[in-house]
Amino acid sequence: GKPADLHPIPALPLVLAATEAQTLTEVLDWHVARHPDRLHITLLQDDSTILDQLSYGRLAAQARQIARGLIARDIGPGDRVALMLPTSIEFFCAFFAILYVGAVPVPIYPPMRPSQIEDHLRRQAGILNNAGSRMLITMPEGLSVAALLRAQLSELESVASVAELMAEAGDMRLPPASTPVSTALIQYTSGSTGDPKGVILSHANLLANVKAMGAALEANSADVFVSWLPLYHDLGLIGAWFGCLYFGAPLYVMSPLSFLVRPESWLWAIHRFRATLSAAPNFGFELCTAKIDTAHLTGLDLSSLRAVANGAEPVSPYTLRRFTEKFAAFGFRPEVMMPVYGLAENAVGLAFSTLGRGPLIDRIDRNALMSRGVAEPAKANDQNPLELVACGRPLPGHEIRIVDPAGHEIGDRQEGRLEFRGPSATSGYFCNEAKTRDLIHDGWLDSGDRAYMAEGDVYITGRIKDIIIRAGRHIYPQEIEDAIATIPGIRRGSVAVFGMTDRVSGTERLVIVAETRETDPAARHEIETRAHELTSAICGTPPDEVVLAPPRTVPKTSSGKIRRSATRELYQRHQIGVAQGSLWLQVLRL
Ligand code: ATP
Repeated sequence: GKPADLHPIPALPLVLAATEAQTLTEVLDWHVARHPDRLHITLLQDDSTILDQLSYGRLAAQARQIARGLIARDIGPGDRVALMLPTSIEFFCAFFAILYVGAVPVPIYPPMRPSQIEDHLRRQAGILNNAGSRMLITMPEGLSVAALLRAQLSELESVASVAELMAEAGDMRLPPASTPVSTALIQYTSGSTGDPKGVILSHANLLANVKAMGAALEANSADVFVSWLPLYHDLGLIGAWFGCLYFGAPLYVMSPLSFLVRPESWLWAIHRFRATLSAAPNFGFELCTAKIDTAHLTGLDLSSLRAVANGAEPVSPYTLRRFTEKFAAFGFRPEVMMPVYGLAENAVGLAFSTLGRGPLIDRIDRNALMSRGVAEPAKANDQNPLELVACGRPLPGHEIRIVDPAGHEIGDRQEGRLEFRGPSATSGYFCNEAKTRDLIHDGWLDSGDRAYMAEGDVYITGRIKDIIIRAGRHIYPQEIEDAIATIPGIRRGSVAVFGMTDRVSGTERLVIVAETRETDPAARHEIETRAHELTSAICGTPPDEVVLAPPRTVPKTSSGKIRRSATRELYQRHQIGVAQGSLWLQVLRL
């Protein structure tokens, strides 16, 4: 039900953005010098319980103390320090402590359930090894996992909790401040298409991105941001936190678990704190449409929202429509929904829809795109068009171009590889020369995505590695996955579609792995028949194989994305049906 209405939240006086600051620490110090007591972060348990609050002054003071604890442990400029912390006051303070000593934060996701320890350890060890982290900061509950990691990694010299570092702090001096070109973050991609890669981002990259996104959103200190996004992922870290930090806007943040367990907490927090801005990947909106009972929303008012970014994964027209319809009665205006596109290699945001326009959906001729790579508008009587959501225009100061296989720029409505450049773009992957060489050519970066431009907007058609090429036609797994997920008995977000090269014919076999709890043979047969029909309707041919698997089969990334190539590997190793599951997946099924 509706939470008791709290005391009105006092509006903060307007302040300027930290425009003169050149580094993240200068941004924080800029605010501290002007308004140390101004509220910066409110940590929420859920919509009705405030756990703690941080002013700029308190954030800086605690960060400096932790920084002296880091110096006591011999951490200095350039050292990589891994942060394995949940959404907490400790996370924010430790992040800045690392920056104050000139070291480089490497956020990684915290372990949450004992059943995932093995998978978690393997992935985290890979990241820490690549980053060459000398130190790992975690919470007391994470110390045992950290000890296991330390046993595997010779470079990882020390493990500490924030409390330990604070206790060890002496009165040593902090080293000279970092410069704009210093590395401020190594952001590991979630690894939806392979092993995580460490994207190097400088202070200048991060601030350029925050300023450009703020310009697209017309953000200022009167804004209020509510977020449940994880801080180990770029959207929550850079988009939500650094954005608020730069503009002096208050951030109300809860952990992703709070949202997953009770999605309406997000909406009630927006209501309660009169949020103007928020953001989520498509699945967050999907969860709200699927899981929230409107009987629990009496009195909910979402009309304070100016813009909610929807990005980090493909935006589904189906989800957009359902979310907008469901929440219209609660003051959610369709023009508030803002599809965006981005990637860690550009800090976070790369293209944003025009503010206040609302989603734009392109209906195109499926056959023309699949066989010729041309996004032709569908005829009015087309019964089966392909619908793609516009992800907006490149952020100010950033450029996007679409190129053919030879690297030549192609025209409007021609599908090709998306390349970009601009002030937010990374200089490369940490300790990975081969992948960096693949990434950057003649000053342009390869996004790994296919897309087309039309009337200034960019439309993402799929990840290059995930697209299935069958008899010369391009098949986009996302679309089939979305369709299969509408079959009764199949869960949305638990379907993976991938291609397998057939050694005999050379073409790709199309395999669908879909999770179901259904055990009745007749019902399973019915699901398979529907899957064949839907796939044929979308791509003209039926799938080569439909594998119905038990829940928790399809592996996902820590940010909730389907790992299609990992599913393919399980399939090849005949391990489908052996419970895998990822963090989010498991949490979603608590
Ligand atoms: P990895 O690169 O290791 O596979 P990842 O895909 O999670 O991991 P991120 O940088 O976190 O890497 O995500 C960026 C990718 O997310 C983009 O390259 C794109 O494929 C996808 N993406 C982001 N926003 C959108 C969007 N609006 N529409 C479609 N795809 C999107």
